Amino acid sequence: MNPATPAEGERLSRAMAALRGLAVGDALGSQFFVPGNHSALQEGTLPPAPWAWTDDTEMACSVVAVLATHGGVDQDALARSFAEHHDFDRGYGPAVNRMLRLIRQEGADWRELAAGLFDGQGSWGNGAAMRVAPLGAWYAGEPELAARQAELSALTTHHHHEAVAGAVAVAATAAIAVGPDCPADAGRLLGAVLDLVPPSAVHAGVRRAVDMLDYDDVATVAAVLGCGRRTSAQDTVPFALWSAARHLGDYERAFWTTARAGGDVDTTCAIVGGIVASRPGGEPSRTWTDRTEALPEWARWS
Ligand SMILES: [Mg+2]
Repeated sequence: MNPATPAEGERLSRAMAALRGLAVGDALGSQFFVPGNHSALQEGTLPPAPWAWTDDTEMACSVVAVLATHGGVDQDALARSFAEHHDFDRGYGPAVNRMLRLIRQEGADWRELAAGLFDGQGSWGNGAAMRVAPLGAWYAGEPELAARQAELSALTTHHHHEAVAGAVAVAATAAIAVGPDCPADAGRLLGAVLDLVPPSAVHAGVRRAVDMLDYDDVATVAAVLGCGRRTSAQDTVPFALWSAARHLGDYERAFWTTARAGGDVDTTCAIVGGIVASRPGGEPSRTWTDRTEALPEWARWS
């Protein structure tokens, strides 16, 4: 499974850098749900290894695999990959667990299932946003294309417009952050993202995040923006983008700031880790990468 062209090879290596950063954020972040590790979080010390990743990484592997084999988001291939690789023990939400099991075991149609969740509103969970930073890295410097492809990727599981807006916002941030025209100013970066996010609570939240970029008190910011306690896109993405935009180029600070807010820590840290690591020099340290569970064999290209 090699990239078709040198350009696709470059896309893939950027997406893999983002995927590795996403996996470290997810895996290390999830360690802080273990009660014995709470003091390590406050002290900024590393919990015992190995750190196992969760559903965020498993689904992100499928996103990258489909980009690598199809050159874009083929929705049927993506839904199939999610279902084939679905591991019940990786911490999926109950609705997605059931949906992926039905697709895998009973050949159910992902379109019907995704559209039918939550009485036909679709899920507004943060699951479409948590897996999509590598897609943004794939479309570096092409944020409009990243936004459109992120929407396609979201709809395979999350039909609600907030979930789609969350995925668009994360992918656009990564595409701009890793592209050649990334603004040095965090407010201008998120302003460019806002131009691509449809009207939504996610949009309103990211706008509020821009207003709070000069706040240093993460607890206050998380209290206003949310940090994933309700596991919705609108309660997760604005805070994650606030943290990523403030810490581009510094993976460790990005991680600790994000994790200390609490909430859906594996997912906020997966989003932030994926965005920050997509930029050259933004990768997690070797120490952190070595302590993180290896990516599955079917998602290793370099
Ligand atoms: Mg998770």
